[in-house]
Amino acid sequence: MSNNLPEQSQLSITGVAPVRRPNRRTFLITAASAAGIAGLVAWHPSLAAVAGGGASSGPVTVVQFSDAGKPIGKVTIPRVVRSDAEWKQKLAPISFEVTRQAGTERAYSGSTWNNHDHGFYRCICCDNAVFSSDTKFESGTGWPSFWQPIAKENIVEINDGSMGMERTAVSCRECDAHLGHVFDDGPRPTGLRYCMNSAAMRFVKVA
Ligand SMILES: [Zn+2]
Repeated sequence: MSNNLPEQSQLSITGVAPVRRPNRRTFLITAASAAGIAGLVAWHPSLAAVAGGGASSGPVTVVQFSDAGKPIGKVTIPRVVRSDAEWKQKLAPISFEVTRQAGTERAYSGSTWNNHDHGFYRCICCDNAVFSSDTKFESGTGWPSFWQPIAKENIVEINDGSMGMERTAVSCRECDAHLGHVFDDGPRPTGLRYCMNSAAMRFVKVA
């Protein structure tokens, strides 16, 4: 997501129409039936997490957070599954494009890239807590950037070879929403840069 391509489109860093690529579930099912789950898991460790977490409809284990931003504890709950039509009804167009179709909002266009308030971020789709202001930093990219998620259980990281780049996509563990990508050029202590989309998250201000 950090590149210098022209910003011609609201939805795509390349200035072309949003890419309609098969969603990960389709990919996983296809890959799984072709190679078998065991082969898939052996192929890439991050896919193991996805497969192990229930790639389609199985329960997921996440850390829940109160609206004061405090961890309540780990819970195993049903994965949130809705049809595209249902998501479309619930979400603003840009949030739908980002979360359900792996889109990218235009740099500096979102509501929280420059947010310095204390609080945390929930998935716009399902309210799963995903990032905290405690780990937010100035990346200069125009996207809200963090050096770690609020709880590693709450997100999924997966190889993303789309758009001619090798990246690691980050999605919500609870509902599969695409949130952004993670890169290894971040600050200490992790050296990671979670480059997220404002449109994929809802900020909860904590006094
Ligand atoms: Zn979610």
